[in-house]
Amino acid sequence: MATHKILLLPGDGIGPEVMREVSKVLGWLTRAGVAAFETETDLVGGAALDAHGVPLSEDALGRAKAADAVLFGAVGGPKWAGVPYARRPEAGLLRLRKDLGLFANLRPAICYPALADASALKRELVEGLDIVIVRELTGGVYFGEPKEIVTLEDGQKRAVDTQVYTSGEIERIAAVAFDLARKRRNRVASAEKHNVMKSGVLWKEVVTRVHAEQFPDVGLEHVLADNCAMQLVRNPKQYDVLVTDNLFGDILSDVAAMLTGSLGMLPSASLGAVENGTRRALYEPVHGSAPDIAGQNLANPIAMIGSLAMALRYSFGLVEAADLLEGAITRTLAAGTRTRDIAGPGVNAVGTAEMGEAILRELDAPAR
Ligand code: NAD
Repeated sequence: MATHKILLLPGDGIGPEVMREVSKVLGWLTRAGVAAFETETDLVGGAALDAHGVPLSEDALGRAKAADAVLFGAVGGPKWAGVPYARRPEAGLLRLRKDLGLFANLRPAICYPALADASALKRELVEGLDIVIVRELTGGVYFGEPKEIVTLEDGQKRAVDTQVYTSGEIERIAAVAFDLARKRRNRVASAEKHNVMKSGVLWKEVVTRVHAEQFPDVGLEHVLADNCAMQLVRNPKQYDVLVTDNLFGDILSDVAAMLTGSLGMLPSASLGAVENGTRRALYEPVHGSAPDIAGQNLANPIAMIGSLAMALRYSFGLVEAADLLEGAITRTLAAGTRTRDIAGPGVNAVGTAEMGEAILRELDAPAR
């Protein structure tokens, strides 16, 4: 059996608490003979800053590069609010994304039937929702040059951001989306604004070509990004995989997040290029370090455990193990187990550790 090398970076705040539950699941998977894992743990964010004076040590970065996948908790918190910009805890995550070349961000929005009433939308619109937003993460308007604020001769100021994409950047993100769709319901929607943006014209052209040349078996539709935002709220279940650029992806994935109820439920994956047959990858919950509830056994570990399920599926090819884990999460919720963030009024909530243990019991259940 192949051994999968995982680097655990728990980070700050609730990061270590939710990562502890992931370690328990990894232990279960190993004991059950599903797979073999070799894990290392290192510091990131404020914890690394306190220990090493930098939010990510060169040592930890080296370990991340050597691992088959990185599992990342969360970073940041009020303790480090005054730290210079370049050394702030979040810079550790940005460095990882940059140095591992993680250009594709995958954010699933899954609405568990048991939680459909926690969504801002009506139950029938979101119950059973299962879509993935594939966001380009390293290009576009957040990085394009020039990026500046200049003072004009008449005293006014002028701000410029530059939306820029090359065909290569679009090709590789499109390929990730089509490939993912083949493992799901085989449909991709590509969102841009070719009606008013040159980068949108090129985006549409390249996605169309990649589809025709490499993925003609996958369904493809093009949608204008503004219309897409509306469709996500009107009828989100029409989508399977949604691919878009960095800026639109930032916005559309937050819209999709609200469809599912709580921040504590949302996993994500950031993928890089395939090198020597393996794809660089980092898996993390969408939420932050939640300093308001840190250290109190109140955090929902499902986003972090769901991030492990994504690692099983996308980095290790352990599709059955991923199904098993996601099934255990679904049944735990269906049985009424809730952490405080997803408990309705009058419902008794369990803690982080208890939610983790309930999921482990459900993992045991099929064998009973
Ligand atoms: P946050 O996601 O940490 O918290 C927002 C709210 O959601 C809080 O009320 C929190 O208690 C709740 N919440 C978040 N995760 C939860 C969970 N698993 N279970 C239950 N409730 C949960 O966002 P914030 O408060 O804006 O930021 C706090 C810190 O985290 C800041 O320092 C910020 O920079 C950092 N941050 C880090 C990341 C990351 O590491 N990727 C992402 C976002 C924010």
